[in-house]
Amino acid sequence: VAIAASCSSPSTAEAVVAEGDAIRTGNDIQAVRGSILHFLRDPGEAASAPAYEFFEDGGLVVRDGKVVAVGPASTVLANISPRRIADYSGKLILPGFIDTHIHYPQTEMVGAFGEELLQWLNKYTFPTERQFANQNYAEAVSKVFLDELLRAGTTSALVFSTVHKQSVDALMGEAYKRNMRIISGKVLMDRNAPDYLLDTPETAYSDSKELIDRWHKKGRLLYAITPRFAPTSTPAQLRSAKRLVDECPDCYVHTHVSENKGEVAWVNELFKNDVREGTSYLGVYDAFGLMTRRAVFAHGVHLSDADFSLLKDRDSAVSFCPTSNMFLGSGLFPYDKAHGMGVKIGLGTDIGAGTSFSQLHTLNEAYKVVKLQGGKLSGLQGLYAATLGSAKALDLESKIGNFERGKEADFVVLDPASTPLVKFRMERAKTPQEKLFVLMTMGDDRSVKATYVAGKLAHDRDEANKAFADGANTK
Ligand SMILES: [Zn+2]
Repeated sequence: VAIAASCSSPSTAEAVVAEGDAIRTGNDIQAVRGSILHFLRDPGEAASAPAYEFFEDGGLVVRDGKVVAVGPASTVLANISPRRIADYSGKLILPGFIDTHIHYPQTEMVGAFGEELLQWLNKYTFPTERQFANQNYAEAVSKVFLDELLRAGTTSALVFSTVHKQSVDALMGEAYKRNMRIISGKVLMDRNAPDYLLDTPETAYSDSKELIDRWHKKGRLLYAITPRFAPTSTPAQLRSAKRLVDECPDCYVHTHVSENKGEVAWVNELFKNDVREGTSYLGVYDAFGLMTRRAVFAHGVHLSDADFSLLKDRDSAVSFCPTSNMFLGSGLFPYDKAHGMGVKIGLGTDIGAGTSFSQLHTLNEAYKVVKLQGGKLSGLQGLYAATLGSAKALDLESKIGNFERGKEADFVVLDPASTPLVKFRMERAKTPQEKLFVLMTMGDDRSVKATYVAGKLAHDRDEANKAFADGANTK
């Protein structure tokens, strides 16, 4: 809110775009032109009204970082000076991708070989996260991380930091400068990890409280109360988390659940004296009052029907992280079952157990996970999940996820001819649906021509590639 206000000073309202150039200021009315697709509701649900709008030659009009209009170019761009229109004709404009589960400190450990979850944490993750006690280190990685999100077309994310307060300050400070919708929080963990990563029930509370005061609702930022997962928090610490939820009911709860069978058995053993007999892993979080409307549980690969019913009853969300679940050999998330039961499902990359920042790449793997269980995830269903579906999972559909008037103007410009092979394949696609599915199957960060945050250009592929090549050449 503060940033939006500071950007709208009328004295600096003159746009600096030249015809055909990208939008560089968000101060006055601006527009982009291209094919435009956005969702109004879930295309996987039976409904009398259409689930999406598609404008082959479309216009998206933005003022002060918000959507003013979307529709056919001939209508919505009719009264706008061509100087103020960035022309992306031939490309596809979608709402910015939303990542509902990712760890920024693990950016540097993608592709850690050979282990399943619990061994992977001990061998690779904990030593990596130790470095984030150093705020300068955390700031340097935050910049790389946010650059990679934008390169992938992702404009909003729910992000794990580390146990260190300064890891949150580093990420939030950098995200604030970029005016991104980032949700994060200090990790809570007071057992079953190396001493150098442990806090206590008391510091979990006081450090989180301090960070909530500093960052929650500052600009577009929001805070997540973040117990790593049940095995690394004592019951006393989960009660601290509940106290934070009570004092900040619109803060998020962000954690992991039922990713790996060994983990599930361990939770049952650890909490057997603290909860009623027969309580499931998810039920442990419920017993401590942590299943809120703004709770997001990553993975849920091994949840039961009763667990999915509980998620639905509590209006909590699950984050589907296919590249991670395949990489760690965790299992296949029962997407069709959860979706059919009406559970809110977001899409997550789960870097660094996940293997790509790209939600297109993540959808490619999501399709395979669904297919191995006999289902089919269409291009429309996939792109819904990566945009409006994930906005709903984050309880943010009134702010982001599509191009309804008044929404925050985060969007991505996708290139259907990003590589010779993709271009060759696209030329042979016969319907828009087929093109979307090819994009979801073959697309990656090279498909992202440009990413806009609150109406401002935040990433241009060709400029970024040139800068990278220039940097490499001078080394
Ligand atoms: Zn994770």
